[in-house]
Amino acid sequence: MYDVIVIGLGGMGSAAAQHLAERGRRVLGLEQFSPVHELGSSHGATRIYRQSYWEDPAYVPLLLRSYELWATLEKKMSTTVLHTTGGLFVGAPDGELVKGCLSTALAYRLPHDLLDADQIRNRFPCMTPQPNEVGVLEHRAGYLEPEKCVALQLSEAARLGAVLSFNEKVLEWHQSEKGSCVSVKTDRAVYEAERLVVASGAWIPGLLARLQLPLKVTRQVMFWFEPAGSINMFLPGRCPVYVLESKHDGQPLYGFPATEGAAGGVKVAIHGIPDACTPETINREISENDLVRIQQKLSCSLPALGSKVIKAKTCMYTMTPDEHFILGLHPRFSSVVVAGGFSGHGFKFANVIGEILADLVIDGATKYKIDLFSPNRFRDVGN
Ligand SMILES: Cc1cc2nc3c(=O)[nH]c(=O)nc-3n(C[C@H](O)[C@H](O)[C@H](O)COP(=O)(O)OP(=O)(O)OC[C@H]3O[C@@H](n4cnc5c(N)ncnc54)[C@H](O)[C@@H]3O)c2cc1C
Repeated sequence: MYDVIVIGLGGMGSAAAQHLAERGRRVLGLEQFSPVHELGSSHGATRIYRQSYWEDPAYVPLLLRSYELWATLEKKMSTTVLHTTGGLFVGAPDGELVKGCLSTALAYRLPHDLLDADQIRNRFPCMTPQPNEVGVLEHRAGYLEPEKCVALQLSEAARLGAVLSFNEKVLEWHQSEKGSCVSVKTDRAVYEAERLVVASGAWIPGLLARLQLPLKVTRQVMFWFEPAGSINMFLPGRCPVYVLESKHDGQPLYGFPATEGAAGGVKVAIHGIPDACTPETINREISENDLVRIQQKLSCSLPALGSKVIKAKTCMYTMTPDEHFILGLHPRFSSVVVAGGFSGHGFKFANVIGEILADLVIDGATKYKIDLFSPNRFRDVGN
């Protein structure tokens, strides 16, 4: 019998396994695919890390903690996973993005500058803001390497004694009547543990079907372009990570510097394309429509990138109606903790989510404020 079973060893599950193993728990991690695969939500070379959170200032304490935890992991493993490039968030001065970034940056005294359109163009020549737009330049923002983060979390968990089983799919789980244990049935065996963590990403609606959470899984596409002109203006140092607000469709364009030089291309994507899918039905091929959609955005917001695609990959978001996470004790089963619905912005928090999951498993509570993420909050909206 294990102390804890973790379902899903992606961004969040690998972090939970690591934190639980660090605290001496006997952990079994179950993953349906191989380690660090490309079929879920935690792949694609880079993820933005930022602190001036326009979504809600309540995220900042978690962001500050995750910043510390990424640094701890880097030190322990003698490597770098968080590359600080600065983050530029551009939009209308009274738009949600700029207003939200500024108020969070001011409330938490996060190091930043407010740049007008000329200053943005002079400092970052690849950017072409409209004359009336401004940008918040956040100094500590940058990018994480998601595959490396997951691999390090898995290896640290295993080193500390966690049993990690790959290519083993969980079919169902049950909590015993008295709530003293859970049993988990996979395509290979049945296991028992005192506690269960469900961190199964885009597959979570199936594993939490009884909760009827109002989740929507969407298909997203990441592109790598070869710049039409010189790569220089896209190299780190001249190009930060960025998010460019859209006046037209509410779907911002975001991107990264050329992290692997000219050969690797420049990664860009549209945030929050509403194309519904399921992990079983997602179309992994890139369509003409995908290309047209990103090329239209690039031609007005980032013309220096040209239109030549080097590669593209699909990925899934698991959206909640309010785009806040789902994190907490299962409303009906006291031995079960759930972490899902990361709504396309969870990766930067993976390590602190792992810490919170370990708190919830061990103590039933955490010192972090997570009311915003309550799995109960959708009960009134017809569920
Ligand atoms: C294109 C894209 C861009 C993004 N950009 C950013 C960004 O810039 N910054 C940011 O912070 N976040 C970003 N995100 C969001 C972030 O990457 C996700 O929120 C995060 O990776 C979710 O982690 P997860 O552990 O919930 O899911 P995953 O990493 O997908 O892990 C879930 C795991 O559970 C496994 N699993 C599921 N069902 C079972 C089962 N029955 N049995 C066994 N195993 C199972 C899956 O195989 C999978 O490995 C982005 C996401 C995408 C798709």
